[in-house]
Amino acid sequence: MSRLDIIAFDADDTLWHNLIHYNEAEKAFGNMFSHVLPPEDGARRLAQAEQRNIGLYGYGVKSFTLSMIETAIEITGGTVDAATISKLIKMGRTMLDHGIELLPHVSETLEKLHASHRLLLITKGDLHHQERKVLASGLAHFFEGVEIVSDKKPETYRRLCARHGGRVANTLMAGNSVRSDVLPMIEAGGYGVYVPFDILWEHEHEDVPADTPRFFAVDDIRGVADVVARLGSE
Ligand SMILES: [Mg+2]
Repeated sequence: MSRLDIIAFDADDTLWHNLIHYNEAEKAFGNMFSHVLPPEDGARRLAQAEQRNIGLYGYGVKSFTLSMIETAIEITGGTVDAATISKLIKMGRTMLDHGIELLPHVSETLEKLHASHRLLLITKGDLHHQERKVLASGLAHFFEGVEIVSDKKPETYRRLCARHGGRVANTLMAGNSVRSDVLPMIEAGGYGVYVPFDILWEHEHEDVPADTPRFFAVDDIRGVADVVARLGSE
């Protein structure tokens, strides 16, 4: 029996596709305003607005939509028309309605770990949208708890472990962001497992410092089960 109390997973780009929809929208945004500046510059200005607005708006599609509108006004010198704003709002609505595409091996891995462990899902983002995504994913029954948080700091992980009656030292967090999923959990005293995804939001980029204890990198989500088995046999 493994000595882990809780195994926690990130959701976006760990269990299902997410960033791909933002990247597509940024590209479409750039193309929509190619008459005022080169498409890649438009997309970059939008990315900068997103970054700038996180502190105020938080993460998620609704924040992204506001950033699209703000950037459209900026780059057109305030001349963008209502029909174009309406198109941007529609792009946001389409993103909110997008179906869930699970990443490979997710269901089988959760099923396996669920049989022997308590699983938690910990995700940032907009409460309403994330709740809908969890429901639509068909994965909700694997998780003892779904925690939607505004940020992932060491204190966040300590608080969530305490809430679910686990010891943070015996908790493992797996996700595609070293910055949000892995390092703060290790700082809190737990284990962090990096599950790489082929695209990563620039905002989430962070290298793992050398000699980080309690850190594991795996090839894909199946590797999380291997780490759990290894920790259990130590
Ligand atoms: Mg993620």
